[in-house]
Amino acid sequence: MKRIGFIGLGTMGKPMAANLLKKGHSVTVYNRTAGKADELVALGAESARTPALAARGADVVFTMLSNDAALLEVFHGENGIMAGLAPGQTVIDCSTVSPATSRRLYEELAGHYVDFLDAPVTGSKPAAEAATLVFMVGGNEDVFGDLFSLFMELGSKALYMGPSGSGSYTKLAHNAMVGINALALMEGLALATKAGLNPERFLEIVKAGSAYSRQVELKGPKILERDFSNQFSLKLMLKDLLLASDLTSQFQLPAPMLHGAATVFQMGLAKGYGEDDLSAVVHCYEEWIGRAIEKFTVSSSSPEPIPSGRDRRRAQRVHLDIQLLLSVYQWEQEGAFTGQNIEGTLRDLSENGLQIASKFPLAQDMFVVIHFPKEADLPPITGRIIRVETHPNEFRYGCLLSGLSPYVRVKLEQYIQSKI
Ligand code: NAP
Repeated sequence: MKRIGFIGLGTMGKPMAANLLKKGHSVTVYNRTAGKADELVALGAESARTPALAARGADVVFTMLSNDAALLEVFHGENGIMAGLAPGQTVIDCSTVSPATSRRLYEELAGHYVDFLDAPVTGSKPAAEAATLVFMVGGNEDVFGDLFSLFMELGSKALYMGPSGSGSYTKLAHNAMVGINALALMEGLALATKAGLNPERFLEIVKAGSAYSRQVELKGPKILERDFSNQFSLKLMLKDLLLASDLTSQFQLPAPMLHGAATVFQMGLAKGYGEDDLSAVVHCYEEWIGRAIEKFTVSSSSPEPIPSGRDRRRAQRVHLDIQLLLSVYQWEQEGAFTGQNIEGTLRDLSENGLQIASKFPLAQDMFVVIHFPKEADLPPITGRIIRVETHPNEFRYGCLLSGLSPYVRVKLEQYIQSKI
């Protein structure tokens, strides 16, 4: 068992320190806001008043802090880690920071015969709690090998990535993808919601389809549940995207997706969602589409859907009984038609046609000119018989209407509505 100093008890640090305690290590913790150590003290941790005291006498010192500035302050500030270190110790920094900061600390600590590994993690709060984090590690490979089992007490995977800074490079490239993937999910959801689709079903398709990602799994349900409680804060996501952007500038590497993603998270921060989970950036999209992206409820569903032809037929079939005069034309021989007038009844209006009943037998593909009652104020309308049904006392004909102008269609529908 090791003597461990653990500094930074935020969303990630606290469950990591708790897991080390559960594994039987002797853990001394420090957090700037002292109250956050209480739960760990109850689990058996010692609480130190300064970073130097947390580091003093430890075999390994973990740091899990917000950003470069916090990390450097904890090392170099008054009663910082530097004041508590002694040769032979190892510091493992799990924060996401710039590779330059990782290398700076590696070199500085090497001067004091102290080893330093940059070992950022992937996996949010649930993975920290379940000890299934994935570590990407830079620094001395032998030091990593010696501490491999310690990493595996906190995570499910730990990979050596190369010399000092390599863990941080890996993490920033990885998190550039996280930010882009998260926004890909938001944009898909925004599009689906705007189109009036059920977003839960849309997510089901995405989970089964090639747009699937871990962000879909982690953030999709959170968004639809309106649960923006913090697992990985929006402001930290933005911090990582900006650090990754700095790297692309150093490398003169075009990265349009990364820069676009950073801009959207910047908007989320400007709107005041920095302390919320990164999924809160969906509020930007909600503003752009003018509605919430949430589980389907009656109020969030799309406005009255346009009834289909089938719905209309079902809804109206029983109601109509409008007397009509029909001029029927039949193809006799090349270039010649014969015609006659018969009586009929309008039964139904569908999306593209009418159903007419008559005692007079007609055949499929015949043309009829329909004359409505005078009160309808409609011009004669031409239809082609496309379906014939035989009933006990009459025939029913499905007529496809052709060349109906939108104006006449609206008038026809209004007339029929007035008769229902
Ligand atoms: P967090 O909840 O915001 O915790 C940040 C920690 O840093 C707190 O203990 C905070 O102390 C401390 N801190 C900040 N500024 C300080 C300063 N100037 N001096 C001393 N202590 C300071 O962050 P987190 O989510 O645990 O993330 C920690 C690191 O892991 C970040 O670099 C993040 O990018 C990375 N990370 C996070 C996740 C995730 O899902 N959350 C996943 C992978 C990697 P106070 O309590 O006093 O504020």
